[in-house]
Amino acid sequence: NADTAMYYAKEKGRNNYQFFSADMNVRAVERQLIETSLRAALQGGQFVLHYQPKVNLDSGVITGAEALLRWIHPEWGMVYPARFMPVAEDCGLIVPIGRWVLREACEQAKRWIDAGLPPLSIAVNISALEFRQSDFFEEVRTILDDIGLDASVLELEITESVLMRDTESSAAILNNLKNMGVQLAVDDFGTGYSSLSYLKKFPIDVLKIDKSFVDDIASGNDASAIAGAVVGMGNNLKLKVIAEGVESKLQLDFLQRQHCEEGQGFLFSRPVAAEEFAKLLQAHGSKKS
Ligand code: C2E
Ligand code: MG
Ligand code: MG
Ligand code: MG
Repeated sequence: NADTAMYYAKEKGRNNYQFFSADMNVRAVERQLIETSLRAALQGGQFVLHYQPKVNLDSGVITGAEALLRWIHPEWGMVYPARFMPVAEDCGLIVPIGRWVLREACEQAKRWIDAGLPPLSIAVNISALEFRQSDFFEEVRTILDDIGLDASVLELEITESVLMRDTESSAAILNNLKNMGVQLAVDDFGTGYSSLSYLKKFPIDVLKIDKSFVDDIASGNDASAIAGAVVGMGNNLKLKVIAEGVESKLQLDFLQRQHCEEGQGFLFSRPVAAEEFAKLLQAHGSKKS
């Protein structure tokens, strides 16, 4: 920890002390500030969810939304997950924050459904610590029951690296969730371990191809072979494949040719506030027959 590091740095002499202390202090102070502010944020209602559409690549229809956490700090303005999520995970605050996210996203989906908007699925990101909580399963069940939301509307996104950390317990947790009827997605697919055999062991519905592979798609570029191969494999395993971070028409064309079912990215829409998402869904949701 920081104190111990400081102690050893001091032992090594004056120059080292100055070098280490400056570096350690800045990081420790920033971390501490974020942690304290996160506690206040949870109590003070400073979190909001933005929603990014998931789009069927053949029809252009919006099939769902991914809920993405935003922190509206009174002085700093909008803070993105990259800045506070690592701290929230380290100090355990991600657990209560994650519960808030899950409930808020499900309540929002219920409001859209009750308002008669086109059907959709709502995807929520689940971090390692939340996923491994012994009462996570009950938490999900309670939220769905309280709100009266059909379990099949909810999709949980869990990253490949979290699932691979302990495949035995992951399979057990996933099976419990699957039996409840929620949809399960592997997020950032392709970035973790490249073992594919576990895909058959886990009751997964959706593969989200990581943006880095979508970025590699460029005309005549060998790198796009990976994105193509992942789509092909997902299709063969009867999984729904979603490409993350689609930004260009060229990427869209390639993904359509590979029969990738869905996409998400700035080409379609950035993550937007709930009111704005409702307008997108109204205009581009599936037509009810
Ligand atoms: P993720 O789940 O992989 O989410 C996708 C990220 O890519 C989002 O960043 C989204 O805004 C961004 N994105 C989508 N399309 C594009 C595109 O076309 N171009 C580019 N450059 N970016 C695109 P965001 O919202 O900053 O979230 C970052 C990560 O933070 C998420 O990655 C997820 O791992 C985590 N996160 C966000 N919200 C939550 C949450 O409520 N709970 C948990 N546990 N994690 C969250
Ligand atoms: Mg995600
Ligand atoms: Mg992702
Ligand atoms: Mg990602």
